[in-house]
Amino acid sequence: MTVIPSGTARPPVLPTLFGLGPRNADRRRRALPPSVLRLPTIGVDIGGTKVVAGVVDGEGKVIDRLRTETPDKSKSAKVVEDVIVELVLELADRHDVHAVGIGAAGWVDADRSRVLFAPHLNWRNEPLQEALSERFRFPVVVENDANAAAWAEWRFGAGRGEDHMVMITLGTGIGGAVVRDGFVDRGKYGLAGEFGHMQVVPGGHRCPCGNRGCWEQYSSGNALVREARSLVEEESPVVEPLLARAGGGREGITGPLVTEAARAGDPVAVELLYDIGHWLGVGIANLAAALDPGRFVIGGGVSDAGDLLLGPAQEAFKRTLTGRGFRPEAQIVHAALGNEAGLVGAADLARQVARRFRTIKRRRSERAHLA
Ligand SMILES: [Zn+2]
Repeated sequence: MTVIPSGTARPPVLPTLFGLGPRNADRRRRALPPSVLRLPTIGVDIGGTKVVAGVVDGEGKVIDRLRTETPDKSKSAKVVEDVIVELVLELADRHDVHAVGIGAAGWVDADRSRVLFAPHLNWRNEPLQEALSERFRFPVVVENDANAAAWAEWRFGAGRGEDHMVMITLGTGIGGAVVRDGFVDRGKYGLAGEFGHMQVVPGGHRCPCGNRGCWEQYSSGNALVREARSLVEEESPVVEPLLARAGGGREGITGPLVTEAARAGDPVAVELLYDIGHWLGVGIANLAAALDPGRFVIGGGVSDAGDLLLGPAQEAFKRTLTGRGFRPEAQIVHAALGNEAGLVGAADLARQVARRFRTIKRRRSERAHLA
């Protein structure tokens, strides 16, 4: 049995349950005992360099966590599964958990059972949900990492109270997700939200996806570093303070270093972030034309630059938005949960299933009792 601490406050925003519409959700919400809302679950975030697993309570707080390195791309799918199983079982030994959610950097199919492709791992059409379900006594949910992060921001962070939210994660590339009417809009095949590969500059920079001019070639950590290093290659004197900060070598210039320099007032670093922010705003205006959300939540490592990034983004958004002056403008805000959003979201999405799992179990036992 789960021990629920008495007097724990209910989460301020409750989820729409099981993908039902808001009216049905209200009905179901009233039917759920408060204890069920607080079930602790495990979230696992599988990134390019590390795997982090954590126990998350019903209010989105991470109460225990473990981490290890992501196995090399050359390793088999089984090796990656073993890493996940080891972390989850260790946490399950320490806590009474009721489900596990896996947030993976990669394409997850619409019914959340297979990872179609993962750039950092050897997963190709991998039946991850089934493989892990065989190894745990509790239910398993598999989700794309950007979808998981967006869900977490909607439930516990910067998206609270907004029924139509778009999340944009600026890391090495751009991740994205749409949360609408209390559910993650995954698209028909599970691949909605791949905003980073919208073409914003015809014939522009080549992208690893094979196309040219993709948004993430202009607004991402990789774009920031590429532009800073290109100034070094051009032997521009304006980049000397940044280069000195990087220890004199081109390779020492990283995204966090540019942000640090911009905060310290280095005008070139400020300008580099301005350009990234400008393109962020242009892309967001395109997304507003297509999706018309109430709020854009901007997360990922590059967003640590705060207003140095979001200021130019808001400016470019206002200048580029279609129908400007004749329509309400979406808010553009900084994400609230930092780099644990993926883990928290995966755990909370699993909690939805844990509820159902418990309900079914209870009904089964009720039926057995009646028989
Ligand atoms: Zn691309």
